[in-house]
Amino acid sequence: MEVTRTARCSIAEVAIGQRVDKLFHYAVPSRLAASLHPGHRVVVPFGKGRRVGFVVGLVRETGVPVLKEIESAPDEQAVVSEDLLDLARWVADYYAAPLGLVLKTILPPGFSDPEKAFAKEKQEIRVALAPNAPAARRRLTAKQEAVLALLQDFGGEMPLTALRAAGASAAAAAALEKKGLVAFRKGEAARLAHPDTGERDTAIVLSEAQRRAVAEIGGAVRGGTFAPFLLHGVTGSGKTEVYLRLIQEIVREGGGALVLVPEIALTPQLIGRFVRRLGDAVAVLHSGLTDAERRDQWKRLRSGEARVAVGVRSAVFAPVDRLKLIVVDEEHDPSYRQDEGVRYHARDTAVMRAKRAGIPVVLGTATPSLETFHNAREGRYRPLDLPERAGGAVFPTVRIVDLRGAKSGNRFLSPDLLSAVEERLARSEQSLLFLNRRGWASFLLCRECGATLSCDHCSVTLTVHKGDKSARCHYCGHARPLPEVCPACGGTRMAPLGVGTEQIEEELKARFPSARVARMDRDTMGGRGAYIDLVRDLHEGKVDILVGTQMVTKGHHFPRVSLVGVVLAETSLMVPDFRATERTFHLLMQVAGRAGRGEVPGEAIVQTFVPGHPILAFVQEHDFAGFAETELSARREVRYPPFVRLVRVLITGTDEVRVSAAAARGAAAMREAGGKEIEVLGPAPAPLARLKGKFRWHVLLKGKEPGRLKDLARRGSLAIQRVPGASSLSVLIDVDPVGLM
Ligand code: ADP
Ligand code: ZN
Repeated sequence: MEVTRTARCSIAEVAIGQRVDKLFHYAVPSRLAASLHPGHRVVVPFGKGRRVGFVVGLVRETGVPVLKEIESAPDEQAVVSEDLLDLARWVADYYAAPLGLVLKTILPPGFSDPEKAFAKEKQEIRVALAPNAPAARRRLTAKQEAVLALLQDFGGEMPLTALRAAGASAAAAAALEKKGLVAFRKGEAARLAHPDTGERDTAIVLSEAQRRAVAEIGGAVRGGTFAPFLLHGVTGSGKTEVYLRLIQEIVREGGGALVLVPEIALTPQLIGRFVRRLGDAVAVLHSGLTDAERRDQWKRLRSGEARVAVGVRSAVFAPVDRLKLIVVDEEHDPSYRQDEGVRYHARDTAVMRAKRAGIPVVLGTATPSLETFHNAREGRYRPLDLPERAGGAVFPTVRIVDLRGAKSGNRFLSPDLLSAVEERLARSEQSLLFLNRRGWASFLLCRECGATLSCDHCSVTLTVHKGDKSARCHYCGHARPLPEVCPACGGTRMAPLGVGTEQIEEELKARFPSARVARMDRDTMGGRGAYIDLVRDLHEGKVDILVGTQMVTKGHHFPRVSLVGVVLAETSLMVPDFRATERTFHLLMQVAGRAGRGEVPGEAIVQTFVPGHPILAFVQEHDFAGFAETELSARREVRYPPFVRLVRVLITGTDEVRVSAAAARGAAAMREAGGKEIEVLGPAPAPLARLKGKFRWHVLLKGKEPGRLKDLARRGSLAIQRVPGASSLSVLIDVDPVGLM
């Protein structure tokens, strides 16, 4: 039998790390013929050296003579399982990306690097609370306290990698060892003691709606069929509790599950909650891990030791064994879209993975994306509602405050908002102020000539940062000292305009000198450590007022926050993107939902210069359905998703004339070949017309069938590549783009 097979398939198609854009053919030596499968890693001669590659297919013929042979295949088990290879193929095809690049994206870093690829990972180091720890715990740093708290949460012992994955400091753990409070040991992963899950199960009695959701999804899990669910419930309605119940059951039966959350929502609190319920069955995947840690988590899943992957976007490719359920929490979140390399959408890829695996997928959210909502309404997704907040908490009342009349003081802190903050201070409750702009002011304007300070490399204004007296580009990172005089006219009246979190923090400190004000944004949260410290301070009531960007909107449960202030509702409305309204609605609902999750009823104050904007009324009424109706009919009218599909072709380069000429050429070719069903819009300069020194033009394709749009985009891309000087341009095909900047 084997001989026949060898005769049929003696040539391997191999994707090679450094050349991810194409596949190479190698002869399979007869000694490997029986054991080599798609998904195996192989060492192959390449140029003058050797490379590690992945077998993606075995074929009989290539039409050209294949000269070189595979040298070896060192792994017993294929690195990429059959189902993941199949998913990778779908991703490569759907998102118009080379399969090699997709495989590189799927695998942990270093897997295709010849040096690291076969290196033996060191033995696991574990950290445990010392059994006879001295009672004296004085003089511990916050980071050391955090390590102890985490160990407690994890049942007293955990791998060092997991400790670090949860954001704690290894140095702090080492310091604790010196104090005799924790002990390190090397060894094979001694299993964590599984926390007694039964006790916690009885602690929470599921609501009727939760029970129904668990029953329906659980039925689909046991039935082993593809079934997409939309679990629609406001923040705090108990969605996570539903996931946990389902997954506990799955793990008990020996199955596996995959849970995706947005990066920003994958907080130590959430990780702790999964680990308390599921113990060592959990592997966590996020961008804060070192490469070695990521490989370790990945291997634990691949070997079946860990059964549940909880992770961010790229975890949609986690090698979960016997996968029975996929959960995509906060499915509407734009961060599920990867916007470099392979531009895939993790939610859509998750649905596709579930479909191919024949298992249910749950899309959970308080504010479904219009695509998902539309799918549910059309009967493609099964809707499950959790209409109430768990434990009887109610959605906060929302007050809209018109900023146009403000005369005195800071224009961005209305008397309404200030007095509401003051009330909270008097009652020792917390306030959370949200503004989706960091820095001190949005731009610097010369009052004499009207020039604004803009980036040398991008078509955007520079943001004023007072802390380090710099003007910074939030797109490319370019920074320069704040100028004393206008670089255009030499005028001395440079005025900062617009508002950022830094300014709000400063104002609040000035208004409420005795209040403890903290800021959470990308400028203050250097590492996960700083973030964990701040979250803990909030929990312990050591912060009275938190000012922050989007970072504050997700993943936290701060029971003492009874006031949420939205400093400026329209920051995200003014973005030139057809999803701007939807994005703003999601954001406002999410941030309002942060108020009043505990005993105290909450209030949200939304400040704006456009109080008549229709979405504010929907937010005020918590009326998702009303919002969706209105927005969907607007989208239908102008033919935008979810009623059509989009593919965007983006052409960039340093020579503007060349870029625009190429875009015109591409658009013409696509128009010619497109036919009636496909609309070709453009070419036009992208809203962000210049980024990092590159000019940007785009062409937008609209139509019903993504496959045809993509084929057309490929054709346009080829036409562009034939334009003289095309080698200096780059052409990007973006399928189902999120954001058209
Ligand atoms: P969501 O994921 O929808 O934000 P969670 O599952 O995190 O909601 O639930 C919010 C809070 O309510 C959590 O502290 C959770 O433990 C608690 N909770 C969830 N379900 C119930 C319930 N049926 N009864 C009481 N408390 C619950
Ligand atoms: Zn820039």
